[in-house]
Amino acid sequence: MIILMKVLKFGGSSVAKPERIKGIANILKDYYKRGEKFAVVFSAFGGVTDYLIKMSSAAANGEESYLDHFNSFSKRHIDSVNELFIEGDRKDILLELKNNHDVLKGLLKGVFLVREASPRTMDYVLSFGERNSNFIISHYLRKEGINANYLDARKVIKTDKKFGAAKVDLDTTFNNIQEYFTNHPEIQITTGFIASSKGGLTTTLGRGGSDFTAAVLANVLNAEKVIIWKDVDGVLNADPRYFSDTKLIRQLSFTDAIELAYYGAKVIHPKTIQPLKEKKIPLHVRSFKNVNKSGTIINSESCNNKNPSYIVKENQVLISISDLELSFIVEEHLSYIFMLLSNFNITINLMQNSAVSFSICVDNHSYKIPLLI
Ligand code: ASP
Repeated sequence: MIILMKVLKFGGSSVAKPERIKGIANILKDYYKRGEKFAVVFSAFGGVTDYLIKMSSAAANGEESYLDHFNSFSKRHIDSVNELFIEGDRKDILLELKNNHDVLKGLLKGVFLVREASPRTMDYVLSFGERNSNFIISHYLRKEGINANYLDARKVIKTDKKFGAAKVDLDTTFNNIQEYFTNHPEIQITTGFIASSKGGLTTTLGRGGSDFTAAVLANVLNAEKVIIWKDVDGVLNADPRYFSDTKLIRQLSFTDAIELAYYGAKVIHPKTIQPLKEKKIPLHVRSFKNVNKSGTIINSESCNNKNPSYIVKENQVLISISDLELSFIVEEHLSYIFMLLSNFNITINLMQNSAVSFSICVDNHSYKIPLLI
């Protein structure tokens, strides 16, 4: 069995600009020089996934502006290559990018013509974000002296065909990752978020799913630790965009981390904890901006945090359900209501019941809520 020391994951904001990529490369060079064993997972460049969604929606709506969006997407990646590499080193990288971008352009043209972007097409479109970033960064790391290899996670992470939030087939994925890492001793630069079905169709693991990719790799490889590098100092007790006096949580138990992530603390993807908890692999959340700060450790030790955490959820809908004759809301009604919520795939964020009414707070899904009602 392979023992891999660490799995490092860098999100979109850490690679949003070429200067940041250079900074991250310095962090990785330190690991490399110390002779540490590690694998790295990168997200798409900051904002790229949203941008890919925007351009496909424009194409699906028949708006020709999708082409302008595509051109800026393409330019952003080409500009990054131009900034990271000297002229003589760029040719092959730009050629491969161009080939990839031609495929994406053709795909978007298809969406524009049929006026539809199915979940299956969307997953393929979104995969260009992570594929581009990891491809460019792996080349850059090699130039910087790291023995890095680009790993398209679709080769190893296998899922069902639930496009948009595919479920990982753990057995096949386990064997694939073990085999791949045994035969490829280089530092693997792995695309987060994307995977593929058994038949080879591209799937994605849900928005923010690169954290989960890192956790799956760590689980299979029995990693010593996962480190998620963020633009904040670690897990804070509230989102600093809404609160000015946030506090860093130094240690969190896996269970508390799952609760926070599930209820919307955006710092880690909710599915990330389970594969780590299973193998007792600690998760370190730390800042790529302040590398001297100690960050947050999430592990199996229980903790006694005195500070409450605050989660802001925007765009919520309050639904209050009561009987027209004001009769009591009893278990039979509740079980019917829960069955409906489950059928419509609606998650409750908060609930409260009184004698004659039952109220829930849910995300404002524009199409699901009217159907439920
Ligand atoms: N790029 C994807 C997203 O923005 C996945 C990730 O960043 O983890 O959702």
